[in-house]
Amino acid sequence: MDYDVRKHLIEVRNTLPEHVRLVAISKYHPVECIEIAYKEGQRVFGESHEQELSRKYECLPKDIEWHFIGHLQTNKVKYIAPYISMIESVDSLKLLKEINKHAEKHGRVIDVLLELHIAEEATKFGFTPDACRKFLDDGEWRDLRNVRICGLMAMASFVDDNERIRSEFSVAEALFHEIKEKYFAADDAFCERSWGMSDDYMIAMECGSTMVRIGTTIFGPRVY
Ligand SMILES: *Cc1c(COP(=O)(O)O)cnc(C)c1O
Repeated sequence: MDYDVRKHLIEVRNTLPEHVRLVAISKYHPVECIEIAYKEGQRVFGESHEQELSRKYECLPKDIEWHFIGHLQTNKVKYIAPYISMIESVDSLKLLKEINKHAEKHGRVIDVLLELHIAEEATKFGFTPDACRKFLDDGEWRDLRNVRICGLMAMASFVDDNERIRSEFSVAEALFHEIKEKYFAADDAFCERSWGMSDDYMIAMECGSTMVRIGTTIFGPRVY
């Protein structure tokens, strides 16, 4: 392994203020790389494919907190429901209900984030701001006792234009505060803003991020 995971993990950590949590995105990286980060004290890891996550979960220490960050099909929820710490990519009531159902079966409450679609690229999943407001207004989520909505997740467009990235994260941050006030004012758990990846997390942190999802900078280029 040429890429020095330990060194890069420490470098990333040194750039993060106390209140920002690091989710090390380990998708497409082997368990050996995760073990290096684990030995360095990292406990929160993110994966975007159910099968890859389940395989890694089986053979790695059980005090790892796994975050699911990819598009999650409803028929895959049952596989991760027993152990997943947070599902960051909830983008429909249907998916939320499915998570609730399987969490209940396992006697758990699963933490989730609502994924926003704020980037202009059409390929992204997630709620548009209006769809997110409508989802919350409809109120069905209030009956789901085995999921806890802890905040929002968002990705900016993959562009070099820092001002555009900043304006997209600012939209997410404004929406977070709007939603917090309107639906979650009395709920301390609703506090997370998961934005920022390797190339844009510095900007994301200027826009209120509480959780950054960093893969490439820690683990090197992904091998597909
Ligand atoms: C892959 C991925 C990341 C990490 O991206 P890097 O550029 O490698 O840091 C973050 N968030 C999501 C949703 C991802 O799919």
